[in-house]
Amino acid sequence: MVATAKNADGTLTWLRGRNRQRVVEILRTQGQVSQADIARATGLSRTTVSTLVMELKDAGFVVDTEPRSSRRRGGRPAVQLSLRDPGHVVAGIDFGHSHVGVAVADLGHKVLAERRQELDVNRQAAQALDAAARMFAEVLETAGVDRKKVVGAGIGIPGPVDRARGTAGSATILPGWVGLRIAKEMEARLGVPVEIENDANLGAAAELTWGAGRDCSNFAYIKAATGIGAGIVIDGHLLRGATGTAGEIGHTTLDERGLLCYCGNRGCLETVASGPAIVRLVGPVDGTLLSLDQIVERAAAGDVRCRRAIADAGREIGVAVAGLCNLINPNRVIVGGLLSRAGDVLLRAMRESIRRHAVQAAAECVDVRAAVFVERAELLGAVALPLLSVSASQNLR
Ligand SMILES: [Zn+2]
Repeated sequence: MVATAKNADGTLTWLRGRNRQRVVEILRTQGQVSQADIARATGLSRTTVSTLVMELKDAGFVVDTEPRSSRRRGGRPAVQLSLRDPGHVVAGIDFGHSHVGVAVADLGHKVLAERRQELDVNRQAAQALDAAARMFAEVLETAGVDRKKVVGAGIGIPGPVDRARGTAGSATILPGWVGLRIAKEMEARLGVPVEIENDANLGAAAELTWGAGRDCSNFAYIKAATGIGAGIVIDGHLLRGATGTAGEIGHTTLDERGLLCYCGNRGCLETVASGPAIVRLVGPVDGTLLSLDQIVERAAAGDVRCRRAIADAGREIGVAVAGLCNLINPNRVIVGGLLSRAGDVLLRAMRESIRRHAVQAAAECVDVRAAVFVERAELLGAVALPLLSVSASQNLR
């Protein structure tokens, strides 16, 4: 029996997923290779390669092929492997709070076409799903790819995900999405298997696949933008928790008597460090409120008021992240989201705060660094999802 990508509790082993991506990449670029070739090229053990290849065969990605030449240099030629169909593609759909992004990529994750549209995703769920389906058809057409070649689609939503039901896991975070069977609805619209995931976990997937988490098996990805969330990877496993809300760091209580949060609690991290909180703190300039984008831009250009607002947010985020460090002891904290574009203004404040609030041993080992991806992190993570978890492609067989 071939091991599947998921453990009994539904946890995905992301490290194995990443290695699976590497094997596919080698098959994609080299066409035909033996398991020994893959082991040499990746540095992975033959046993590991053998397991990965079995998984990929089981999912219908990889097949045995006739050796390229019949020349024999003593003994049987090694069994050659190749992708069943090098023309297969994966798709990613990213629902932000106010936009929809769709991309299609080859199995090496090279993006072939993408689209983005501004839309009130929070309230207009059905319209957002329809728009995504329309854009999906458009990107396939642009890329010149038949729908039958799509092995799976990763879908990101900006809130907790109840994976068992395929729905949004919190009514307060995405009000317009209550009761909507997102996975089912999208499968019906796209005609391909889909997998849903929250935006912070997708950021973590993108960083694990190409970015600041490539060489790391214990890290927390912090998305600091309009909202604040975390994607937590422990020993190569993505932590989802019992109902999928693991990583909702934005709703860590920092002040019981603080401002009322939209989640219904008081004094959450998001009441003092989210995008809207920073915008409020900076206040109007020449009579109008700046956008978070403008504040980050001004901070980078040296505006002291904007720098201070972002540094203060960084300090608060650091308090919550210090708690996370005490609990899970990551060796890296990868900071993404729009706010991360402020660079050291944010990161220095976070590091300082983690040093102050985490236990010394946990604080000393953690490297706080900026994410590689900012704007497209969720979309790229969504594209990476079908290969990180081969379950999405099981209808290939
Ligand atoms: Zn809250």
